[in-house]
Amino acid sequence: MAASSAYDIAVIGGGVVGLALTRGLTGHGRRIAILDEGDVARRASRGNFALVWVQSKGLGMARYGAWTTGSAALWPNFATALREETGFDLGLSQPGGYSLCLSEAELDARRAAMMRMHNQPGWEPVPWEVHDHARIARAMPALGPEVVGGIFCPLDGHVNSLRLFRALHAAAMARGAAYLPDHPVRDIKALPGGGFRVATPHGAIEAARIVLAAGLGNAALAQMVGLAAPVRPQRGQVMVTEKTAPFLHHPMGTLRQTDEGGVMIGDSKEEAPQDEAVGPGVLAAMARRAIRMFPLLGGLNIVRSWGALRVMSPDGFPIYDESTTAPGAFLVTCHSGVTLAAAHAELLAPMIARGALDASVASFSVRRFDVPAIA
Ligand SMILES: Cc1cc2nc3c(=O)[nH]c(=O)nc-3n(C[C@H](O)[C@H](O)[C@H](O)COP(=O)(O)OP(=O)(O)OC[C@H]3O[C@@H](n4cnc5c(N)ncnc54)[C@H](O)[C@@H]3O)c2cc1C
Repeated sequence: MAASSAYDIAVIGGGVVGLALTRGLTGHGRRIAILDEGDVARRASRGNFALVWVQSKGLGMARYGAWTTGSAALWPNFATALREETGFDLGLSQPGGYSLCLSEAELDARRAAMMRMHNQPGWEPVPWEVHDHARIARAMPALGPEVVGGIFCPLDGHVNSLRLFRALHAAAMARGAAYLPDHPVRDIKALPGGGFRVATPHGAIEAARIVLAAGLGNAALAQMVGLAAPVRPQRGQVMVTEKTAPFLHHPMGTLRQTDEGGVMIGDSKEEAPQDEAVGPGVLAAMARRAIRMFPLLGGLNIVRSWGALRVMSPDGFPIYDESTTAPGAFLVTCHSGVTLAAAHAELLAPMIARGALDASVASFSVRRFDVPAIA
């Protein structure tokens, strides 16, 4: 370790991933810095749909399913601890969630995908059921007649993700982390005796370890320390209605009523976006589908819409890595940072604090993409 290291650990990126990791890293007398961009930075953490979602996670990687289920199970205590520490109620509710289908063909396709996922080698069972229209209508009487059925998973839930963001931030400050906004990292050098020098326009800081948690920014940063972060932006558009009396008693993949009463309708999946702009075509398509599911939505005003860029790896699963050429440099990126916030804080951060990732997260290494193009 470099004798002059100002910090034990520098977390690069102040999104939900960086802040959740910071929660698990702070304490024990460790000096932690969070280096972040400025107020206008692109942050998926500010524009997400706020689901703590299990049911569709893991087709193609059984370990991701178990990791997600484990995080959802940690969420209640995680939310309680954050509320007790910061006073922010995260509005966590895990009543089970639905993926609703508007035709038998849609329902068949979803059921088949669930069965493929659950038949994978190494899959740890997750409860799920197919519910017909009548059963869903008993749970949510405002259901439209066009909904033929849906997939229900009792582990699914949602939170108020902006409050999560604020609470994580407040907790980090209360635990003594140094938040350094307007400190975009331009360069990282591994120091000869160990540790790192991280250059920003406001000068350099040194740290014994670094965690790259910069969302899409990781793609450039990873190369500086012998890592790889093949992430791409995928735009999601979301809109929210005026507040109304509670009628959506379960969150859905593309529809949920917030703890404050507004209904969020989302979220598109658009590849190769130029920016975060919203477009009436996509919003109208999402609104039409939502109204078919719950016709009373047609009488509500949309009060806000936004676009945000997801941080997607080639297979959609997280990438967790430690550099072999610059030991002490870690990489953490994922596209479900809300769902995984509890696992990041309580399972992954302690590994980073100990200085090595466990075998339990080895399947998330970027090395999974190192397969010959032609066998
Ligand atoms: C439309 C949409 C819907 C979503 N819905 C859900 C959902 O329902 N449930 C769920 O679990 N997840 C959801 N997500 C995903 C979730 O929001 C992301 O997983 C999460 O925000 C990624 O967090 P992050 O911290 O990695 O990235 P970001 O939030 O993008 O934050 C990255 C941070 O790094 C900083 N940074 C970048 N480069 C540098 C640099 N060089 N130096 C210093 N700082 C840097 C940025 O300023 C930013 O603060 C959704 C995302 C979108 C876009």
